[in-house]
Amino acid sequence: LDTLKNKRIAVLGLGISGLGTVRFLHAHNLHPVLIDSRQQVPTQLWLDSHVPHLERRFGEFDKAQLTQFDVIIIAPGIALSTPQVRQAIAEGVEVIGDVELFARLNNKPVLAVTGSNGKSTVVSLLAKVLECGGLQVGLGGNIGTAVLDLLAQDMDAYVLELSSFQLETTTSLAAKSACILNLCEDHLDRYTGMADYICAKQRIYQDCQLAVYNRGDIDTYPEHASQQLSFALHDADYHIMQHQGESYFAYRNSPLLPCRKTVLPGSHNQLNVLAVMALCHDFHFDIGVFERALSEFKGLDHRCQYVTTLNDVRYFNDSKATNVGATLAAIKGLATEPGRLILLAGGDAKGADLMPLKETLAEQVAELICFGKDGDAIAALKPGSHRVSGMGEAVQKAKACAQAGDIVLLAPACASLDMYSNYMARGNDFIQQVLEESS
Ligand code: ADP
Repeated sequence: LDTLKNKRIAVLGLGISGLGTVRFLHAHNLHPVLIDSRQQVPTQLWLDSHVPHLERRFGEFDKAQLTQFDVIIIAPGIALSTPQVRQAIAEGVEVIGDVELFARLNNKPVLAVTGSNGKSTVVSLLAKVLECGGLQVGLGGNIGTAVLDLLAQDMDAYVLELSSFQLETTTSLAAKSACILNLCEDHLDRYTGMADYICAKQRIYQDCQLAVYNRGDIDTYPEHASQQLSFALHDADYHIMQHQGESYFAYRNSPLLPCRKTVLPGSHNQLNVLAVMALCHDFHFDIGVFERALSEFKGLDHRCQYVTTLNDVRYFNDSKATNVGATLAAIKGLATEPGRLILLAGGDAKGADLMPLKETLAEQVAELICFGKDGDAIAALKPGSHRVSGMGEAVQKAKACAQAGDIVLLAPACASLDMYSNYMARGNDFIQQVLEESS
């Protein structure tokens, strides 16, 4: 921290992570300038009551004079390619994220996870395993607590969920174990292409002790790392095998635990469990630790979340499926269940190629109901699909189409921002409409 003492510091972006940064710097007697392109920021109340003395430059970045600073701590929501930020970097300003600051100050083991899908599920389960193994664990990053808020708690280890945006501004992570779970097209509205996105994700392996990768997804293979472990349903260090007539999580052909010990549905969640096991490899936990963690972990809301059964039709909310890969995983995960599948999809596809959905929609989905900005593009992938105006109509249509034994799944393959404030609001709307339908 001493290195920051006499520097001119700016915090750029005053959302949740920006607030964590301000709180942290303030607690250490540092006085950053607060900058945001919005006139009103969501954290205004806290700033007004706790740090009214800090200078604020709200409104256009052009007026914020970013080149004046020695260090800018930038929020993940702001692209490094923003012209004013680019210019500051060109003029020698050090631009880092809060995760980088965390990494420079932290001396406890970090277990870090990124990927297109499954991050929140994996880090939540991972934290549970470590806790069951007797460690005090701080969980944060892209999920829940901002990383600098975590530092204030004195933990044995930190589990971090990291987005590609956070990784772009991080160089010193040196995780004890690190994993890219999978990669599919996402956020192409902020990257020049897939290669650029993969490159940001690969940074998680930089100087890590153990790199965990998905054997079935070549883009996750570590470019540089000494110790490596792979996971996949088959042909990997951590894998699934048949043993005594049932499926087991296994390590190099030794069965560890029956797969039925987890309630999480679908083979994508089996992969998530395998990734967690691999990430913990060097802790040498007894298998009972995993068994307890799996029995306590019931999954997160909005991820293949069971809602209710009405007239023998089961409803699942996977509103967190904000890209094609997540929707494919949800459909395939539920495909092993009996009954036809009715899919509700649509929203903002963020410029992604939707074609990879086509075959699965043809083979696994009985009825497709589409809404939102890119609803037409999704509907065009399957003949006979239905185009509706919004969630209320979508749920009504689903109910009208459904026969006893069917499954209705909300897995939009799109961001929600064209219709909702976030994916949770979308999922809650779905749940409400489903439940209202029944009353
Ligand atoms: P993230 O934090 O990466 O968005 P989540 O755990 O919140 O991940 O899950 C996001 C979406 O991805 C959900 O729709 C979920 O059903 C799906 N999903 C979870 N695990 C996987 C996986 N291993 N592969 C593909 N999709 C997954």
